[in-house]
Amino acid sequence: VVARLKSSGLLQTKGLIGGKWTDAYDGRTIQVNNPASGEVIASVACMGEKETKDAISSAYDALGHWSKLTAADRSSRLRNWYNLLNQHKEELGQLITLEQGKPLKEAIGEVGYGASFIEFFAEEAKRVYGDIIPSTLPDRRLFVLKQPIGVVGAITPWNFPLAMITRKVGPALACGCTVVIKPSEFTPLTALAAAELALQSGIPPGVLNVVMGDAPKIGNSLLESPQVRKITFTGSTAVGKKLMAGAADTVKKVSLELGGNAPCIVFDDADLEVALKGSLATKFRNSGQTCVCANRILVQEGIYEKFTSSFSDAVQNLKVGNGFTEGVVQGPLINEAAVQKVDSFVQDAISEGAKVLVGGKRHSLGFTFYEPTIIGDVKNEMLIARQEVFGPVAPVIRFKTEEEAIQIANDTNAGLAAYIFTSSIKRSWRVSEALEYGIVGVNEGLVSTEVAPFGGYKQSGLGREGSRYGLDEYLEIKYVCMGNM
Ligand code: ADP
Repeated sequence: VVARLKSSGLLQTKGLIGGKWTDAYDGRTIQVNNPASGEVIASVACMGEKETKDAISSAYDALGHWSKLTAADRSSRLRNWYNLLNQHKEELGQLITLEQGKPLKEAIGEVGYGASFIEFFAEEAKRVYGDIIPSTLPDRRLFVLKQPIGVVGAITPWNFPLAMITRKVGPALACGCTVVIKPSEFTPLTALAAAELALQSGIPPGVLNVVMGDAPKIGNSLLESPQVRKITFTGSTAVGKKLMAGAADTVKKVSLELGGNAPCIVFDDADLEVALKGSLATKFRNSGQTCVCANRILVQEGIYEKFTSSFSDAVQNLKVGNGFTEGVVQGPLINEAAVQKVDSFVQDAISEGAKVLVGGKRHSLGFTFYEPTIIGDVKNEMLIARQEVFGPVAPVIRFKTEEEAIQIANDTNAGLAAYIFTSSIKRSWRVSEALEYGIVGVNEGLVSTEVAPFGGYKQSGLGREGSRYGLDEYLEIKYVCMGNM
């Protein structure tokens, strides 16, 4: 696979600064590993402060030209990029499976999802409308203009190596902003391949730059620069808080997509098949490594035994293995630290009285594979329910009443996604409105789409990505008052 990717020209290993593929200035590199086998896929440039400063300068210089193109022109270049991402769906999917580990089918699905943000925002680029406000005085006219905020620093995680980038870069470029991307050091290859396709699509040099390597150094350079007007971040809550604090000094606009602690509430009146399918999808997608994955499955007492028994049957049958193997639906976790964290949460729950219903340990395949796991009789006070597991472990909590379910669901600092399964329309509305979450799935476990706003309440973040709301994150509002008319 690697050899084929090399010949396709999509296996880039240097950073992209001002349209030029660039080595680290001191020649340093870091290895990118395949989590399914531990093998080295490639060595990529390991950059820091100097390269980031140059990338910011390139982005700043490109701003004048890019922001002054017509919206239709920016739109058609983004459309070209969308077409190229689609044309290279297979190769990009292979890259994602190689460096991130998710099954190939899921990886190709991510390419489609990732590309959809470029298509959507190519279209929205033409609809960045202003306003005319009725004046309070007869000789005045009041206008509102929307203008690009400027250079954007985009810091992204490894769980969606492509989609977390396009979800930020799509709206930024549509508005006329330019960007410096810092992908995760675990999955830079997909980001670099996407950047290569952006160059081919006619997005001018300097509009999109990629640096990777020393995350704190790159992050601090972005934070310190007065030219960077916006930081958009997806990742851990701890790093998000640091970035928010660091952005204060230059008063940058900040968007954060941080950790979740999603409740998935199954009521007695749920359609069991729908609840099973939805819970399985939201918990085990990407081996549990998404911030909208169910982190706590709350099951009402009347359906508890039936649900856990059928859920256990389904989870036992999930095929674990290398993402390139046909039929595999559960890949490895991203790294050893992730496995240790998942396992420590499981051990803690067991020591506190929870019961393993399925799995509960490392998989016999070794490396970073973990058995798809269900833990029953979990209490909301346990570590496994307080923090994000980010792995293939489903903790199940028993509850009696709707009020109790809402209380448990909201008893967390996070507020990204929540799911409810019920046949009652009244209950659907009641509970959706009561949940302190930015996203609610009702009888549905997979809710992400480019056309709807994605983002969290409380410590799950700030701002929204995707949809028309996603554009506002990259725009300034300017009020123009014309007097003495
Ligand atoms: P995850 O647990 O998903 O890896 P992180 O928050 O550690 O979450 O990583 C998300 C992104 O943030 C990655 O690109 C990572 O390199 C980057 N990152 C980590 N620490 C810092 C930092 N101090 N400053 C800027 N970026 C950082």
